[in-house]
Amino acid sequence: MSAKVLPQKFKPDYTKSFPYLTPSSEGPNHAYCKVCNSNFSIARGGKNDCEKHTKTASHKKLADSLKKNTTLLSAFGKTSSSPTEQKITRAEAT
Ligand SMILES: [Zn+2]
Repeated sequence: MSAKVLPQKFKPDYTKSFPYLTPSSEGPNHAYCKVCNSNFSIARGGKNDCEKHTKTASHKKLADSLKKNTTLLSAFGKTSSSPTEQKITRAEAT
């Protein structure tokens, strides 16, 4: 029982996969979910805990209700759009 298990910390990278998650005020081993408006521990599984949270019934329910709420959706929606800007075609050069 002496296996060292370091508690997982919230990495900024997580927000790429989970845009609704932010670092928590509870500490580095927690994540804050904007959808659920709650903190949860990620000390054990890190990103895996984030995925697990995403699959919880309560999160799904709230995320689903957010989808129907366009006002709140616009707050999240911007992050999902691709940053790839359409390059201006060289139509004029021809
Ligand atoms: Zn959540």
